Amino acid sequence: MRLSQMLLVTLREDPADAEIPSHKLLVRAGFIRRLGSGIYAYLPLMWRVLQKVSQIVREEMNATGAQECLLPQLQPAELWQTSGRWDTYTQAEGIMFALQDRAGRQLGLGPTHEEIITQIAQEMIRSYRQLPVNLYQIQTKFRDEIRPRFGLMRGREFIMKDAYSFHADEASLKETYQAMDQAYRRILTRCGLAFRAVEADSGAIGGSGSQEFMVLADAGEDEVLYSETGDYGANVEKAVSLAPEAAPSPFTVLEKKQTPGCDTIASLEQYCSPTGVVKNVLYEAIFDNGQGVLVLVSIRGDQAVNEVKLTNELTKQAPNYGAKTLLKLTVPDAESQQKWTAQPLPLGYLGPDLADSYIAPKSGFHSQFLRLADRTVVDLQNFVTGANEIDFHRFGANWGTDLKLPALTADLRKAQAGDRLIADPSQTLQSARGIEVGHIFQLGTKYSQALGAVFTDEDGKDKPLVMGCYGIGVSRLAQAAIEQSYDADGMIWPVAIAPYEVVIVIPNLKDAQQVGAAEALYQSFQEAGVDVLLDDREERAGVKFKDADLIGIPYRIVTGKSLKDGQVEVVERAAKKTQTLPLETAVKTLQDWIVQAKGV
Ligand code: ATP
Ligand code: MG
Repeated sequence: MRLSQMLLVTLREDPADAEIPSHKLLVRAGFIRRLGSGIYAYLPLMWRVLQKVSQIVREEMNATGAQECLLPQLQPAELWQTSGRWDTYTQAEGIMFALQDRAGRQLGLGPTHEEIITQIAQEMIRSYRQLPVNLYQIQTKFRDEIRPRFGLMRGREFIMKDAYSFHADEASLKETYQAMDQAYRRILTRCGLAFRAVEADSGAIGGSGSQEFMVLADAGEDEVLYSETGDYGANVEKAVSLAPEAAPSPFTVLEKKQTPGCDTIASLEQYCSPTGVVKNVLYEAIFDNGQGVLVLVSIRGDQAVNEVKLTNELTKQAPNYGAKTLLKLTVPDAESQQKWTAQPLPLGYLGPDLADSYIAPKSGFHSQFLRLADRTVVDLQNFVTGANEIDFHRFGANWGTDLKLPALTADLRKAQAGDRLIADPSQTLQSARGIEVGHIFQLGTKYSQALGAVFTDEDGKDKPLVMGCYGIGVSRLAQAAIEQSYDADGMIWPVAIAPYEVVIVIPNLKDAQQVGAAEALYQSFQEAGVDVLLDDREERAGVKFKDADLIGIPYRIVTGKSLKDGQVEVVERAAKKTQTLPLETAVKTLQDWIVQAKGV
């Protein structure tokens, strides 16, 4: 490609709305343009990157025996109603764009494709002889994200590779899951990314596990906790650990004491260690049948509630309230408390035994608190907790004798850096930021059961198909590569996904020798199958060098002064290393470097 024919507009200033380096650089270098919140045009340079990433993904997926297809983006609401996801995906903080066609039928714009693919499996898969099978597509997804940001990292329209596998049993699912894990590692390695595979939250679906692939970068929205030896790694949403030991309690008799103004754990520290406090956190849960339930979580004072774990626990409780799933979980503010309180709450002084009579009978909320205890409080003795009265706490309380331990106990706490590893308490957890670029998932039979996708097994019995699903954010991954690799002058693309591998710069267009040599090189590179750009623009050499650095092309060749010695200058973008190469062998040398850098 000749730069003189390209639509390339580079900017000197960072775009006002861009917060992280990769977003700034992609806009400045003319790779993307914003058209609305979370909506971007992929301009020619970006599109080449996306195609290269897609091709690597495709090759690695095909190598596992998966087959490519393309599923519709317009999805009939009925399928989502049958799976039970229509309401959660279109209401409250749901992320599906929903629309109506001219006949008044409801449709969604695909945020993901479990329903579609399961419907197809339901129609096409009859027998165990057709299994296992794995289908994938690379396509635009639509999600009405609450906070679109960081350019392509969290868009409302983005490119995803999603794969769905069908199996006769769990063992077969596990085999494919392992193959996907290996394929994902190869994809990320080939794309030149430093990453970590970590345990991930599987949400309410359950299933037997899921793993996220995190590209390590400070701008990552996710926190990863891991052990130094690398044998444990998990998204903080999922991570488990041992909390620090609780300090022994000095309070041996139960006593209600005045603690004026001590409505926070920090202010209680004048009386006791936070590890000796049972703090009680109030949540408002709304289930999908509209039922509101007030939830009281008892957890140790120095710990925080992990709302992902809490959501999973509450989802399990949904059937007890005649519901299928949880729609919304919030910490009720003063305004929402007014909807259900019969009298003002002793906030800051709540006890695990806060009376159900605080819930107004006609409020529509369930008449009793759903009481849950985190494991950190189960073995606490002689603890401090609220007295359900402003300015009073109970000291030296015990479960059983003084207070009833909630029947439901679970791990609801947020693990954090510094906590001890469960498997090996001599190790402590470290923390890193990560960008989630992929997620692989053992789904089980949730969708096949809901949509009636059954097959006949060897014994002639009908069974629901066992499923897995595997996503990779192609556009997010492309931007993550830059978040991991840039400098003050611009982007540094890994060779395998660079829009072009080589850029030839002609410093002086009036110099026929320079032009001639560059044109000849350009021709040879093209013949050799190298992705080459020729900067033949009527611009000063300095401008061309700056642009080449900004767009991050791995190798720059300059047909300048050294031509008189039969040499060209070659600059490696990443290392900023300059050397001269003989004109005749330059193409061959660069070709070798490129093959080596791609590592295939
Ligand atoms: P996140 O936790 O970041 O919201 P997710 O868990 O909703 O992502 P999945 O449904 O597992 O994501 O989608 C598979 C992959 O698609 C993710 O690993 C991520 O790389 C990508 N992805 C998800 N949402 C977006 C988005 N809004 N913009 C760009 N890529 C996305
Ligand atoms: Mg995820």
